[in-house]
Amino acid sequence: MRCIEYGLGIGTGLIFFLIWQGVNLWPLFFIAGVAGALFYFGNIRPGGKSFAVFEKPKGESTVAFEDIGGQEVAKNELIEALHFIANAEAIRELGIRPLKGLLLNGPPGTGKTLLAKAAAQFTNSAFVAASGSEFVEMYVGVGAQRVRQLFKQARSLAKKLGKPSAVVFIDEIEVLGGKRGQNSGHLEYDQTLNELLVQMDGMPENDDIRLLVIGATNRADMLDPALLRPGRFDRQVQVDLPDRSGRYHILKLHTRNKPLAVEVSLEEIATATFGFSGAHLESLVNEAAIMALRDGVNQITMDHLAGAIDKVIMGEKLDRLPGKSEKHRIAVHEAGHAIVSEVVQPGSVASVNVSARGKALGYVRQSPGEDLYLYTSDYLEARIAVALAGAVAEEIILGNRSTGASSDFQQAADLARKIVHGGMSELGIVSPDDLPKDLLHSAIVTIFQKTENRVQDILNQYASVLLKTVELLLVCENLDGQEFRRLLNGNNSEQCA
Ligand code: ATP
Repeated sequence: MRCIEYGLGIGTGLIFFLIWQGVNLWPLFFIAGVAGALFYFGNIRPGGKSFAVFEKPKGESTVAFEDIGGQEVAKNELIEALHFIANAEAIRELGIRPLKGLLLNGPPGTGKTLLAKAAAQFTNSAFVAASGSEFVEMYVGVGAQRVRQLFKQARSLAKKLGKPSAVVFIDEIEVLGGKRGQNSGHLEYDQTLNELLVQMDGMPENDDIRLLVIGATNRADMLDPALLRPGRFDRQVQVDLPDRSGRYHILKLHTRNKPLAVEVSLEEIATATFGFSGAHLESLVNEAAIMALRDGVNQITMDHLAGAIDKVIMGEKLDRLPGKSEKHRIAVHEAGHAIVSEVVQPGSVASVNVSARGKALGYVRQSPGEDLYLYTSDYLEARIAVALAGAVAEEIILGNRSTGASSDFQQAADLARKIVHGGMSELGIVSPDDLPKDLLHSAIVTIFQKTENRVQDILNQYASVLLKTVELLLVCENLDGQEFRRLLNGNNSEQCA
């Protein structure tokens, strides 16, 4: 402190002396200003970044494995690996090499960060987190310096908190640990990765603070093989999207502190949310609570949760108002999708809507039923039929089609390609890589023609339901699955809810 005061005093005196001598100090002030600004924003200051630190605040609990829904396989694998850290004495006696790195691999929002935090809690470790992108700099050596600083920070934090170990969590590790020699500014990238390897290799087995590095990525294929070799990240844990019971568990966790109406069935919501990650489900519950607040009620109902699913899938409701004739066309289109969906897969329509959301002017939300990981040709053809039904309904009722069906056709083509590549088309088993484009196209067109005929038959058979559904949609804007099924079963007295 003293030195700084002496320095400031002498510096100020020197400046006054030079000004008195008539020396032009403006260039010096300018350079000092620029350097000060750069220093302030911290980005070129080597190691000038400090990383997010997760400590256990007194009296509050932190993330535990029980707070993570689904992911039972990932949790078990992780816990098994963590026993190596928690029982250091036993593994030392057996001469087992301690685990240095763990890689969590899976889609965004599946709980990788939560798992890393829970690992820190489970092993009574300090927790330091950084993201791969925080190490990426234009300036050679800065990333490497930051890696060193991260490890140093983990050790000193553990000492400060009196913990025997620390978890260093690096999210998006592919940014820093991508294959070497591939980036344009590759010298800096390579140096940063090399430094990480050096730090991991240099973690002494009998260090007073044991370190565990947990990396998270959704692109494990991009990682440099040196990172994955035994002795570094030699355990990989797959963190997948949750299945139905996992989604139910996550929904239960995120509704713990929220008042739910008695009729709410989280099982139903879990069934309707195939493909949702934990982050989607958290957002869904939050949106439902916001809708309840907007409605001025103090409980979250099934309608709020259904509305929140629409919002998470399709985006916010828009005020974009199509004209009368366009709205009629949208209603015809959506009614066509809904009728065919219900005929080919009874009970599949969750709601039919003609209000704009995200990029869509209207939409039918389907309840996917059981989680499916394999598709039969019947299932794929049924989904193609649903996709084509909007355009066919427009043709039947309005005499022509519109561009509103382009994304449906794209979806139908993707499904038809699955049929061809799966060896379920008239071409039989094919080699997808060697299949000529025109042959693929003609196989897809044959599937489309067959399905279009089927869709026409269904919609002609249900023409009166089609008209009644359109009429109701123009008044009510949306129908839920139950209301729509009553219409389909011939109940013509259906009114807006
Ligand atoms: P990314 O790959 O984008 O970094 P991630 O896999 O690390 O994502 P998290 O950051 O752990 O995902 O999760 C984000 C949020 O989603 C969490 O704060 C939590 O609210 C919720 N969440 C995700 N997965 C789960 C889960 N399995 N159980 C409970 N909540 C979850």
